[in-house]
Amino acid sequence: MPTRLQSPSSVNTFKQCKRKYFYQYIEKLPTLPNIHQVRGNIAHSCLEDFFDISIEHWTPENYAFECKTAMQRLLLNQWGKYKERLTGLDLSQDQVRFYFEETMLMLMNWVTQFVDRISVRTNRLSCSIQDAFMQLTPVREQEYKSDNYSVRGFIDAIEHLDDEIHIVDYKTNSRFDFKDSIRLQLAIYSLLYFEKHGVMPAKVGIDFLRHKKKMINVDEELLTLAKRELELVHAHTGLCEHITEYPRTITGLCKWKTGQCDFYAHCKPHGK
Ligand code: SF4
Repeated sequence: MPTRLQSPSSVNTFKQCKRKYFYQYIEKLPTLPNIHQVRGNIAHSCLEDFFDISIEHWTPENYAFECKTAMQRLLLNQWGKYKERLTGLDLSQDQVRFYFEETMLMLMNWVTQFVDRISVRTNRLSCSIQDAFMQLTPVREQEYKSDNYSVRGFIDAIEHLDDEIHIVDYKTNSRFDFKDSIRLQLAIYSLLYFEKHGVMPAKVGIDFLRHKKKMINVDEELLTLAKRELELVHAHTGLCEHITEYPRTITGLCKWKTGQCDFYAHCKPHGK
């Protein structure tokens, strides 16, 4: 049986519940779109496009204002592009307005921190706003794929800061902590980067858009974590294809106050 191509999401799904992995990646049942996913895509697109805006006219006096208005325009534009998908979510107008405003707040929070980073750079290096902007512009939405480890991932931002490489993933989560699934996702990105470039990124982390960036150092231990977890998933999914080999893990992640697992109705974990 061929080795399956994994991703940080598939590996984390496997660890959370093997039955869920089976439904999503072997049976390929459709997943349900939700506002958190759609809003996440919109925010990612804004952050990707932000670094393509025209900055020639920026000055020390106007750049903070220009950053804000540029991001506001980008969000309005992206929200319009996603109109059909947003409409398909069956939300009330009030809910849509709430999520739009919340997304705007997150992006404005990001802009405030970005403006500070430009300011620190221009002061420290005595460079222009434009130079600081270029230095802070990351490589965006890069696909990394390893045949060796049979895994693929899309990295949101790779920053080359002075002599260091930092890998950043954007998240709109309300929780500002590094749970195990996030650590594993970052470990896999680090492994992919290391395999392709032959150097370890110095740091890897999450830009929690509601809060701030949280980074950790990349070391051998992190790479070993990624290799070990990938091996475990491949060892199982490379041999097992039948649903009975993918048991349910029934937890609060099957159904919670405001939502449920995409496969709850199909799986019937509580027997109804
Ligand atoms: S409903 Fe629960 S047990 Fe069933 S697939 Fe989803 S997470 Fe697993």
